Parts: sequence; C-alpha cells; structure tokens
Amino acid sequence: MLKITRNTFDEVMIPCYKPFNCLIVKGKGSYLFDSNGNKYVDFTGGIAVNSLGHCNKGVQKVIKKQIKKLIHASNIFTNISTLTLAVKLTKHTDFSKVFFVNSGAEANEAALKLARRVAFNLYGENKNEIISFGHSFHGRTLFSVSVGGQDKYSDGFGPKPGAITHLPFNDIETFKQHVSDKTCAVILEPIQGEGGIIEANPDFLKTVRDLCTSHNALLILDEVQTGVGRCGTFYAYQDTDIIPDILTSAKGLAAGIPIGSVMTSDEIAKHFSPGTHGSTFGGNPLACAVGTYVVNTISDKAFLNNVKAKGIILKHSLEELKDKYGIFKEIRGKGLLLGAVLNEDLQDKAGEIQQICAKYGLFILTAGHGVLRFAPALNIKNKTIKEGVNLLDKALADFTKV
Ligand SMILES: *Cc1c(COP(=O)(O)O)cnc(C)c1O
Repeated sequence: MLKITRNTFDEVMIPCYKPFNCLIVKGKGSYLFDSNGNKYVDFTGGIAVNSLGHCNKGVQKVIKKQIKKLIHASNIFTNISTLTLAVKLTKHTDFSKVFFVNSGAEANEAALKLARRVAFNLYGENKNEIISFGHSFHGRTLFSVSVGGQDKYSDGFGPKPGAITHLPFNDIETFKQHVSDKTCAVILEPIQGEGGIIEANPDFLKTVRDLCTSHNALLILDEVQTGVGRCGTFYAYQDTDIIPDILTSAKGLAAGIPIGSVMTSDEIAKHFSPGTHGSTFGGNPLACAVGTYVVNTISDKAFLNNVKAKGIILKHSLEELKDKYGIFKEIRGKGLLLGAVLNEDLQDKAGEIQQICAKYGLFILTAGHGVLRFAPALNIKNKTIKEGVNLLDKALADFTKV
C-alpha cells in the first residue's frame, strides 16, 4: 500500500503552497478531521467555497443522480443541467446572459476579454484601458493577476499585459481625475476579500458606476468571494445602489465542485459571438447540477436571513474578543465574510495566530499578514460558531501570554 503523509506533499508537489501540518481525511458539516483523528472547527469553508458545509447530504444526492445521467459532454452540445443553472441565475439577478467557466480567475479572464472586445467592436482599439484597485484580487492567470492590485502576486512573470491602471480603492477624487474615454472597463470587488475584507464605500461605488456609464466603460463586479449568499444577499451588489454591467462568480457557486460564471446583458453578451471565447469544461453538467441545488437552497429568503443572523453572532463574538485582548483595531465585513484587523504593531502576526488556532482545533483564514479572515459554511450551526469562538479565545490567550 502506498503510504501517504504530510511529507509526501514536500516530496511530490510543486511548492506553491505551504499547507497546515496535517493530512485532512474527512469533512462533515463545519468540521474537518485529520489522519491522526484530530477534529477541527472549520471557519475557512474551503476558502468560501464549501457554502453548504462538507459532504452535505443534499449535494451528495444531486451528484449521485447527475452522474447516472451525464457527467460531461462538452460545449459542442448543450444540456438540461447547464441551461437550468443559467435560467436560475438570470432569475435571481439583473442579468440575462450567462457564460460558464471553472474558476474565479477564468471568470474574470472572460469578463475582461469581453469588455475589451465590446470596446474594440464599438469604439476601436484605442479604448482599451482597464482600471482596477489597490489590494484587489482577481485570480492567478497572467491577465487576472496583472489586473489584481497586489504586485507581489504579479511581479516576476513579465512582460505583463498592458493598458492596466491601478488606482487607490475608495478614493473618489483620484478615480474622477483618471477615468476617461480611453477606459474600457473598471473591475472591483464589492468587499475586497484576499486584500483584507475592505468594503467599497457606497459613494465610491456610485461614482464609479456613474462615470463608467458616462465614459462608455463597463463596470465588472468581481463577486467570486462575496457572491452566492456569502454576504447575506444572493449577490453583494443586491445590497448596494448599483448594478454592474458584468458580474463574475465562482467559489461557493457549486458548494465545492469547480465552477465559475460570467453574467451580463443581451447587449454586451452579443459581442462574444461563436468562436470568440470558449472553455472545454465550462458549463459541465455535473457542476451545473450542483450549482442549481446551491442556488435553489441559498436564494431562499429565510436562508439568506439566517446567513445575516449567523454573521451578526460571529461578528459580535469577535468584537468581544477584540475588547478582551486589545489586539484588534477593527472587526469588519458583512454576512459570513468577516475580518479581524490586527493592531499596527501586530501587522505581520496573522499567520502565527492562524497556526496557534490550528493547534487548538480551529482552522481560520488570513487576508494578507495583518487580518484574520472568517468564511465558514453559510449553514454553520450557531453552536459550532460558539465552539469555534471558544477555541479562538483559547488561541488568543496563548498568543497574548507573556
Ligand atoms: C478567489 C478569488 C478569485 C480567484 O478564484 P480562483 O477560483 O482561485 O481562480 C478571484 N477573485 C476573487 C475576489 C477571489 O476571492
């Protein structure tokens, strides 16, 4: 028998990651179990992916049913599963057309290509500038990572794609001064996730929306992390005063099966005519069947209200820990996408705290080096939130002891 341990990772994997020092063998609801029989409360939710928890019974049932019918056929055919999810997404949003891919980066890649193509078709090749914002994260393909606002992820892979401008997030004046008729698209996250749980100000969003419209630039909202119920509404933009021209989604959309989507209007969609863009796996019937189950479950008002309620419970608990330990300057975020921002003098300690949490049986995320990030399953039980917070309490007591 092949013996697999945590060390096997270092032996055979390209070292893009430095995973926790354990081997995960099982997940159930909001718990994970490792090969030594240790149980962990999971506040990571597979990085905002396991929207319905680990090994959800409903998800399992849909998968079993779909694999007996059709797993993959490719986009030279269409099928009921793909079209059903597309119809559901258009029903619950302001968009009328959908394109499916397999990840967040691919969704943004497609959205950015679409925006460039629209501008090219309507205004010619000089209208090509893409504006994005500092601290933003849009994925790891060369285009999406270059558009993202964190140089540490895109440096060293040059030459980078051109005509990309990074501006400071939430800075209305700078944006006003810079945006022009050369701008073809503006891309932003309604709440920056990887960048530190930084919410876009309503006034900033409104200004960006208005100036995009007056300059014939498309507004792309990257809801890869904030979407599918994560922030307490089906998509986060639905809790703002703006509607983007293109919306990208992925992560939680199929509860752990790889999927991504791009949504837009008829007017914009027609610029992706047959042959202009594509994906072999995009719209995979299995992923879309699960996506439909997730959308049916999460779009329910009562479910979304529960996400809000759970988010408030977790946020209050984190605020109590903020008062108790005095190491956080702010608890921020919305729904079940929350961040605990470490004090100025502790801005490099997020990773250390994350490791201590794991020792106590709690998995959390970080956002940069200075923010603890929480993105548990959207259906996490209130008592599991409490259990996780108690473990975090112990870990913070350990971290702050002299
Ligand atoms: C995770 C994330 C991405 C990238 O998604 P992948 O599936 O890893 O390609 C893009 N944008 C945002 C906002 C994300 O959080």
